[in-house]
Amino acid sequence: MKDRPPAARAVHRDVRVLFGLAAVIALVVFVIDSLPTLDIAIAVFYVVVVLLVASTGSRRATIAVAWGCIALTLIGFVLSHDVHYTNGALARCGVSLLAIVTTAILSLRNLAATATLHEQVEERKQAEYALERSEAFLLDAQRLSRTGSIATSLPSGVMWWSDEAYRIFDYGRDVVPSIEAILARAHPDDMALVRGAHEQALAGAPLVEVEHRLLMADGSVKNVHYVAHLASPQAGGLEYVGALMDVTETKCAQEALARSTAELAHVTRITMLGELAASIAHEVTQPIAAIVTCGDASLRWLNRPTPDLVEAKQSIAQMIRDAKRASDVIKQIRSMAKKRDPLPAKLDLNEIVVESIELVRRELERHRVEVRIELTSPSPTVSCDRVQLQQVLINLVMNGVQAMADVAGPRRVRIVTRRFDAGNAQVMVQDSGAGISQDNVSRLFNAFFTTKAEGMGMGLSICRSIVEAHGGRIWAESPEEGGAVLQFILPVEEGESHEH
Ligand code: ADP
Repeated sequence: MKDRPPAARAVHRDVRVLFGLAAVIALVVFVIDSLPTLDIAIAVFYVVVVLLVASTGSRRATIAVAWGCIALTLIGFVLSHDVHYTNGALARCGVSLLAIVTTAILSLRNLAATATLHEQVEERKQAEYALERSEAFLLDAQRLSRTGSIATSLPSGVMWWSDEAYRIFDYGRDVVPSIEAILARAHPDDMALVRGAHEQALAGAPLVEVEHRLLMADGSVKNVHYVAHLASPQAGGLEYVGALMDVTETKCAQEALARSTAELAHVTRITMLGELAASIAHEVTQPIAAIVTCGDASLRWLNRPTPDLVEAKQSIAQMIRDAKRASDVIKQIRSMAKKRDPLPAKLDLNEIVVESIELVRRELERHRVEVRIELTSPSPTVSCDRVQLQQVLINLVMNGVQAMADVAGPRRVRIVTRRFDAGNAQVMVQDSGAGISQDNVSRLFNAFFTTKAEGMGMGLSICRSIVEAHGGRIWAESPEEGGAVLQFILPVEEGESHEH
């Protein structure tokens, strides 16, 4: 009792009053009915008892009271008459019983109808709660994900925006949603994009998607992504239901990530250059030494009593060729050390492979690594940044060299170029080193994954970002014969290939 809320307590009190009243009436009717002097159908008043109990809403109590009233009517009849029943008395009793039964049936039907109505009202309330709840969920989700909703009826152009859409456009609630209001916020350079999307919708495209910038009143710029689909056609028009997402932060994060990857790529390139310094020095010293030798030789040819001009000319031509080679090597080193944005160009894949191997040739010789190069013909053309592609190849080859450092047997690196499929060219770098364990195959390309004491674990991760940025894919395998195969594919530029 104590636990009941005040409203429930009041209802309970009312019910008790009704039951009490019904009991009193039943008693009074019974007492009068039992008197032998009256010739009226007083038992009919039991219907009041039934109605009072039915008004409490209890089905079980109504049925029990109806039976009780029937029993009291019969008992009263027996008590008020001796064994000689008159027809009039029987008829009065019958009328009373009929009245009680009819009232009980009607009350029960009424109760059943009221219960159904209650259920329906309850269901509607539940549905309303559910709707309110999901609206609240949606509101939170929209705020968190910075996604607004936009519904557009066409051709009338009537629009509906959610709260978040208003926030993204930075408009007050007094602004009437319209394509003009959106265009007023669109970045001047992206105006055509927004108009284009609107025209697509007017033409009835099933899906409209556009990514553009907004120029806000305070001069700041937002990036938004809008996707809308054609909902079931409305009478006499189209209705688009769509989402508008504020992707400014995602864009900034992506740009920052690209910037740091580029910076990291630069750092590893410089680190690699440090490691390759010995090899590079050799590359440059060789042609310079050759130039000196050829210079001496041409002087000797010229200092003869009869100068041999033909020989001198040949020596000078050789000097020019060597000087060019030295300057090419220096150019390449400079371009590798330079910090700059990637410059995609149409490149001859085989040529890049040969060039990259030349840059690490000295290292390969130092570690007594046997190199085999198998180039496909015609050479595929790929659209790539030259320095970045070189960086990938040098990285893969140097990793191979390091993996073979502790190998007692022959140290072999095999570099293969081939057509992978109609649209892609493949480069494979195979070594006879320690190989890669099954566990590591999938982790190799993760940033900071390294098994080397002095490793940074960035090499392969950078290789993957470079290859993927060029539309390719890189992966590793550990063949049964031992060693590792690191390979990548790049899309080929169709219709262009170089004969070898
Ligand atoms: P790091 O060379 O600094 O360790 P990488 O990203 O270049 O970073 O390589 C990550 C790891 O992948 C290496 O530590 C090594 O365990 C493994 N790995 C790479 N190339 C090979 C290879 N050719 N054979 C065996 N393991 C390799």
